[in-house]
Amino acid sequence: MPFELPALPYADNALEPTIDAKTMDIHRTKHHQAYVTNANKALEGTPLASASVEEVCRRFKELPADKHGPVRNNAGGHFNHTLFWNTMAPASGGAGQRGGGAPTGDLAAAINASFGSFDAPGGFKEKWAAAAVARFGSGWVWLCVHKGGKLEICHTANQDNPLMKDAIGDAAGCGGTPILGLDVWEHAYYLNYQNRRPDYVTAWWNVVNWAKVGEGFAKGK
Ligand code: MN
Repeated sequence: MPFELPALPYADNALEPTIDAKTMDIHRTKHHQAYVTNANKALEGTPLASASVEEVCRRFKELPADKHGPVRNNAGGHFNHTLFWNTMAPASGGAGQRGGGAPTGDLAAAINASFGSFDAPGGFKEKWAAAAVARFGSGWVWLCVHKGGKLEICHTANQDNPLMKDAIGDAAGCGGTPILGLDVWEHAYYLNYQNRRPDYVTAWWNVVNWAKVGEGFAKGK
């Protein structure tokens, strides 16, 4: 079945002031829609036409060579943005749908074990911010889980993601299962933050839905 643009689990303006409604609207209905449309076009008639987007990210090298670029970019873009929307929530949201705060339970324990702490100097949030600045140009920052529950931060260019490890090697970052991703393309923040990527990264913690990230961790470990 062709991919479809997912609905947002909140209103376009629900993440304000962190992410403004106009950015949200253009980002999903123009950028993400283009990835969906172009992924479907590239996959039509191929053996992966009915595969999940995760499968397509893992296996696109099985397709003819002329499909690799378009599928890598556009199926990657579809997976990446779907995870991005689904792991954010308004700071004013109800239980399980509230952005901000800190991780709890098993996920909190795993973050402490893997990074030393969540928000102390040198801990997870600092390492994440460093990865976001280290990613030159367009790309993504990822929190990934490996089998056994170890967590790792990595970053990738363009619309690559860690699911693509077998297909693109080191360009796929750490190769774990992504459970949180931050879009650092300028289209994700330029209207509100212009060139100030670090400000966007700092503000973004206010809309991370840690309950959702915790679900991804439970599934991925
Ligand atoms: Mn984007």
